[in-house]
Amino acid sequence: MKKSLAVFSLTSCEGCQFEMLNSYEGFNQLLEFYDLQNFRLGQEINLQGQFDVSIVEGCPDGEKQIKLLKNIRAKSKIIIAIGACAHLGGIQSERNQIKKVLIDKENIKPVPDVIKVDYIVPGCPINHKELYKCLLDVYWGKVFTLPDLAVCFECRQNQNECILREGKICLGPITRMGCNSVCRNGGEACLGCRGTIPAPNMLKMKEILSDIISEKEVKNLLTIYGDLEKK
Ligand code: SF4
Ligand code: SF4
Ligand code: SF4
Repeated sequence: MKKSLAVFSLTSCEGCQFEMLNSYEGFNQLLEFYDLQNFRLGQEINLQGQFDVSIVEGCPDGEKQIKLLKNIRAKSKIIIAIGACAHLGGIQSERNQIKKVLIDKENIKPVPDVIKVDYIVPGCPINHKELYKCLLDVYWGKVFTLPDLAVCFECRQNQNECILREGKICLGPITRMGCNSVCRNGGEACLGCRGTIPAPNMLKMKEILSDIISEKEVKNLLTIYGDLEKK
């Protein structure tokens, strides 16, 4: 029997929803297991719940969205938060670093700081295959887990040169793998969009980065997708 599925979007760029649709074939296969009852981006007729599973993209910004998020929680058996915006606050949470006298707005909070979340699919954007795996695990009553190793593990498997050793910034040592070190494969640094591994060595990471950039720049680097020191 199919489970009911809803997809909600709060403050975000909606890129994770588009990534969810990245594989037309894969997404259609999911619909053999799920009845998509609410998906504003993709369909016109949407039901209001109850839902077996709700996917939440984006973070709640302001009272109205916090109320909406709590309402989603109340009518969903399982909540899956997708993407760095939902998981960590996302790029918009950079505003939390600005002095309140300059920007008179409440701090951005990630979804797990507001409601209980059952599963997180991280990244900016997510990887659609990881989301499909999560949805299938949930369907079959299995516990979905994320890999606990750091991006460095995948980076070395992919035989990239280590730019941190060359005196350039990279957050690979503290960041959770699962993206196949895609940024490093393309010649860029890892900036931590998947959040941290369990028990990251933040002190050592900051010590290494402090030899490359200023203390303020280290702080900025560690808060691009949300405050990694709090996670
Ligand atoms: S995590 Fe990134 S891609 Fe996904 S909605 Fe937020 S900004 Fe967009
Ligand atoms: S380049 Fe970055 S991700 Fe790759 S091994 Fe070095 S620190 Fe780790
Ligand atoms: S390499 Fe780092 S920044 Fe790039 S996708 Fe992976 S976790 Fe995100």
